This record gives sequence, C-alpha cells and structure tokens, in this order.
Amino acid sequence: MNSAQHSHQFDTLFICSNFMLVVEIKNINGRLDFDDITHQCIRTKPDGTVEGFPNALTQTQRHMQFLKVIFQNYSLPIVGAVIIANSSAIIASHPNTIPIFHVSALQKHLHSLFKKYTHAILSDEQLTEIAQLLLSRQQPSKIPAAIDSSRFRQGVLCPKCKYKSQMHYARGIWRCLYCQYASEEIFAEALQDYQYLVRPTITNKQLREFFGIHSIDAANRLLRKFQFPYTGSYKNRVYRLPENLVEYMKPFFRTS
Ligand SMILES: [Zn+2]
Repeated sequence: MNSAQHSHQFDTLFICSNFMLVVEIKNINGRLDFDDITHQCIRTKPDGTVEGFPNALTQTQRHMQFLKVIFQNYSLPIVGAVIIANSSAIIASHPNTIPIFHVSALQKHLHSLFKKYTHAILSDEQLTEIAQLLLSRQQPSKIPAAIDSSRFRQGVLCPKCKYKSQMHYARGIWRCLYCQYASEEIFAEALQDYQYLVRPTITNKQLREFFGIHSIDAANRLLRKFQFPYTGSYKNRVYRLPENLVEYMKPFFRTS
C-alpha cells in the first residue's frame, strides 16, 4: 500500500570473453527468505507484514538455462547471481544454488569470476556475434518478417548434421535419416526459428508445409499439445506462438 511495495526488476547480462554472468537485480526491502522447495521468496516487512515474491534465484536459473540452450555451441561458462539493490534489505535463508548478495559486493564477485575463469574462450568476432544474437532474441517483434522462406532451409534441422539435413516426423519424434539422431524437443528450437524468420503465428497448413508433416491430424495433435493461444474456428485456426518459445514449450514434452 505504500512506496515500499514498488519493486523494480532488471535482467542484466554481463558478457566477456571468459564467461557470461546473468544478473537479476531486485529492489526489495525487508527480510528476504528464499525457499528452495516452494521456490518462493518471502518478504517480511519491519511491521511484520509477510508477502510472497517471485523467487529471483529460480528466475535466474531459468534465464541461465535459456542461455545455455542458445549458446550450446560455445563452451562459454554461464553463471548467475542475484543482487539485492536495497541496502537495508536483509538476505536471510537461501539455498546455495546461485550467489545472492548486496549490490556493494558486485565488484568483488566479478573479480572472483575473473580469477576462476582465467581463459578467454571467445574471440572478439564471437563476442559481437553473441551480442547480436542476444539482441535479436530480445526483440523478436522488431524483426521484420519479410525474409522469403525459400532463402533458408525449412523444417526441423538436425543439429548433429550441422543443421544441413531435415529431420522427419513420425509418432511424436523427429528423426534424422542421415545420422539417426532422434529428438522430440528439437521441435521447440525449430519452431522458434520459424517464429523469428517467418511469422509469429502458425496454422495447421503452414506447419505441415514448413516442417514437412504429411498428416493433418498429426499436425493438429502437435499444435494442440502445446496449448498455444489461438483464434478462429477449427479449420482456420491461427495459433499465436508465445514469446520465449523454447522455454514456453519445455513443460509440454514428455521427457521433461
Ligand atoms: Zn543428422
């Protein structure tokens, strides 16, 4: 009810040639307890009022996971930290998953990371590449969806074959006919590429055409499985692909 209720959240990413640091900055005062089991952050104000907040540690871990997927081809260490910007906040119980500290300790923490990760893994070109990749992922809506789809490879492409061969879909699994690599979750990555390169929505027909699925029913099952928001009646249904698509789709796969 008062100004203390305002909290500001920033996602900050520190990238250098040696490592990548994902920082979640929280401006919350009071006593903060991070529960590892319920994944909740509980804030107790000086007057005794207790409130729940999204757990910054869990959020940071989710961001790290997301970045690990994007940058799986680079061997750059990805680490995380939660920073409490409000100096009067008391960091009480918390699990040891990710460092959590007051903003005043940031410099010391960076120092310790440079001591730990002494080798430069990325070249200057790769650093630029990564920064561009991140920017393009951050603002998918600003990318004009005007690239003619004949100019890039369509379908679910096999990561083991350097994305040169198209994977085939059967009974819920994508399989590469060249190297036999099979995966269910690879579809999320491919659909996200479609989202960025082609358009942020998809229909049954577009799914079949782009991903080489022959059966309308199979395409329909695939689209419904992820519970995408949609508009339109059964036959002309247009599914809207949510932001952070790979993350969004994760819980719907059997294996996860
Ligand atoms: Zn392959």
